[in-house]
Amino acid sequence: MGEGTVRTACPYCGVGCGVTATPDGRALAVSGDADHPANFGRLCSKGSALGSTTRLEGRLLAPQINGRRATWPEATTLVARKFAEAIARHGPDSVAFYVSGQLLTEDYYAANKLMKGFIGSANIDTNSRLCMASAVVAHKLAFGADLVPGCYEDLDIADLVVFSGHNAAWTHPVLFRRMEAARARGQRHVVIDPRRTDTAEGADLHLALAPQTDVRLWNGLLADLMRRGAVDRGYIAAHVDGFAEVEAELAQADQSPAAVAADCGVPLADLEAFFRLFAETPRTVSLFSMGANQSAQGVAKGSAILNVHLATGRIGKPGAAPFSITGQPNAMGGRETGGMATTLAGHMDFDEPARARVQRFWGSPRIAAGPGLKAVDMFEAVADGRIKALWVMATNPAVSLPDAGRVREALAACPFVVVSDCMAETDTMSFADVKLPALAWGEKDGTVTNSERRISRQRRLFAPPGEARADWRIVADVGKAMGFGDAFGWHASAQVFREWARLTAYENTDRMLNLGPLSGITLDAYDALEPVQWPVTAAGGTPRLFTDGRFQTPDGMARMVAVAARGPAEATDAAFPLSLNTGRVRDHWHTMTRTGLAPELCRHAPEPYVEIHPADAEPLGIAEGRLTRVQTLQGEAIAIARVSDRQRPGSVFMPMHWTEAFAPSGRSNPLVARSRDARSGQPEFKHTPARVRPYRETWRGFLIAREGWSAPKGLDLVWRRIPQGACQLHEFAGRGDQAERDALRKALIRGAGDDAVRFEDPATAGVREAFLAGGRLERILFLTATGRLPPRDWLAELFAADSLTAEDRTALLIGRPPGRAVESGPVICACRNVRAERIEGAIAGGAVTVDAVGEVTSAGTTCGSCRPEIARLIAALAPKEVRHAA
Ligand code: SF4
Repeated sequence: MGEGTVRTACPYCGVGCGVTATPDGRALAVSGDADHPANFGRLCSKGSALGSTTRLEGRLLAPQINGRRATWPEATTLVARKFAEAIARHGPDSVAFYVSGQLLTEDYYAANKLMKGFIGSANIDTNSRLCMASAVVAHKLAFGADLVPGCYEDLDIADLVVFSGHNAAWTHPVLFRRMEAARARGQRHVVIDPRRTDTAEGADLHLALAPQTDVRLWNGLLADLMRRGAVDRGYIAAHVDGFAEVEAELAQADQSPAAVAADCGVPLADLEAFFRLFAETPRTVSLFSMGANQSAQGVAKGSAILNVHLATGRIGKPGAAPFSITGQPNAMGGRETGGMATTLAGHMDFDEPARARVQRFWGSPRIAAGPGLKAVDMFEAVADGRIKALWVMATNPAVSLPDAGRVREALAACPFVVVSDCMAETDTMSFADVKLPALAWGEKDGTVTNSERRISRQRRLFAPPGEARADWRIVADVGKAMGFGDAFGWHASAQVFREWARLTAYENTDRMLNLGPLSGITLDAYDALEPVQWPVTAAGGTPRLFTDGRFQTPDGMARMVAVAARGPAEATDAAFPLSLNTGRVRDHWHTMTRTGLAPELCRHAPEPYVEIHPADAEPLGIAEGRLTRVQTLQGEAIAIARVSDRQRPGSVFMPMHWTEAFAPSGRSNPLVARSRDARSGQPEFKHTPARVRPYRETWRGFLIAREGWSAPKGLDLVWRRIPQGACQLHEFAGRGDQAERDALRKALIRGAGDDAVRFEDPATAGVREAFLAGGRLERILFLTATGRLPPRDWLAELFAADSLTAEDRTALLIGRPPGRAVESGPVICACRNVRAERIEGAIAGGAVTVDAVGEVTSAGTTCGSCRPEIARLIAALAPKEVRHAA
């Protein structure tokens, strides 16, 4: 490792890849950490682009009170006073913290300690509630605590991996690459998902089940295993309670494969093939993620999966485990410290002995009496006035929560809103009375825990910019200002970590979450801490739990939980006949506050889309690439149609990333119903009754400018902003007449200067204009009612030049690039900027393996995230016999 290079951790997903980073000013060169056991040197497209996200543009660099700059003491004192006033008048449950899986463990620990131990309420919940809460409850019911049994090595050595509602190829790409490598050695893959995702595309078997029929399928599998005699009676007798109750529950329904296949909407032969494969393969890992968890039956789904593994004894053994994969980089850290309203701290709940123990440890004046408000309930309490003061840390609930329009109304009505974030403008920040500047990734220093319980150091690469501070320190300063100084007197993150590690070991006779050996860690040892999996013993970390068949229940036995199959919380009907499923795309993360800074990550899915099956699209006149309305009882969004048989008939899919700043009409979460699991509180993001209609724009166009714009107020337009290398692309469409276009044009060319190239085309009601300053392009505006529009990447490339050539000016007037087609296909490989046409050309030229396409085009040769998509193009385009020969 070179001088100045720092080993740290990727801030995106729960894989928790190690990164080696070399800062240079605010620039950063990154590569995968070859010694990190999560990724062994690999990074996906998001991790590879981290260097594009560390600039200071858009950062919040000083505290603000009601829009004016303030000092830290002013801001901290005001927050403390407003919270104290609300508590004094209305009690501790009148305040709340909404926090994030982007926080480090030290941040989480500080926030949880302040809320539960000193304010005396449990109204602190994390946005991990939206991702993993159902798995947490299922773990607690089965194992006695929120314990993830397996490790990534299990994914390398399993003979069968079942992906249950988990598109690993897009959401956990580096882990998927590990499993692809195992598949080349003979591992089998089965995907249970209504959508034919990239994970499903290359799998041995894809069960495209009907929405919300997972419990029926997993119960059917367990019944089949019982019929075959494939359950492990010896393991059950020694280590598992509840088998008889589950058996009795299964007997309540027809569990024949034919009945299960019919209810789940999958071919009987495929279902039987899955049952047989599962029965015959002891080394099986069942991965489950958002597709299972984000449901009003999320806990039941998790329990049904855990039941199968407990009944077959496939747990605590190499290559055999149920494995819940987390979405965020430190969702696990929040679950461990108590960042969820439903646990107290350190895997302790609200029973009297645990409350007394934690209060003793903290030396606190009071302790939360019971669970607090879960995320959706918390914002309902904000809306109905029960919450008087709210602090949002490092997250964007105005975009990410279901029925997000109502969340905005709640934030607007809340008497006092504090937002601590690294970005100055987020949809949530606009509601803040007090804005507190937090450190961003690259400036933070602390620890995160990934999906396999591995704690890694996230290390500082840059000095804190402006007045930004660590989240734990901001919380501690407010705690001190509230009069709790002695308990929040830390000076370094290592001190917070030590205290946290001590709590895990405190009076610990039975809790597996134990970091005891790290509780005296020195500053130097903390700086040098190598990735380690908890429980941490004197001998080191622990890769796999339950190897001795003992669980964290009072008698050491695991519990199977009887669960019945139910339909979705909200049924489709004639008015809303489709099931809307929301989720992630490959190259974006959450609400784009970070990935929106990296143009290379905006190419693969540049704008909001709705994926729909041809059988649903055609009768409605919905065509590929055209703007489409998606409506639910909660609201409406407008997105580009992607017509694809990868979507199950009767369902549509929309990504969840776009915000007010990037595509106000393309936001999907305002459409999502607030239905949620009764026990976990996790919302049903995977199913809301919906309908779709063509948007039928009367004109469209785009502006490319050096700066980002938003549509002028008062015009009812659809617009999207797509970051490019040296400029910003803005796509517009509307349903108005010439007056609407004129009003937009007037706003967009205001102050553009006189050096302009302009062409009007009356035949298409089109206009093409380019504005220059000192020979350099500043803005390009194209509008048309009936004409075609040129490829935007050609025009965006012109912004990189110092001046326009005569040929460029002529091409601008003609409206098409010399020698290139009008409109162009999507970018497949974000790292190498390779578009679909080039890959298709390579396939037509005889490249019929992913590696061969890589040799010709370089696509798929860097991070590999696009390899499943290249394989799909090969499968679609190359003749079968040629593929087989290859
Ligand atoms: S898989 Fe990608 S996003 Fe996830 S931690 Fe690794 S590099 Fe980051």
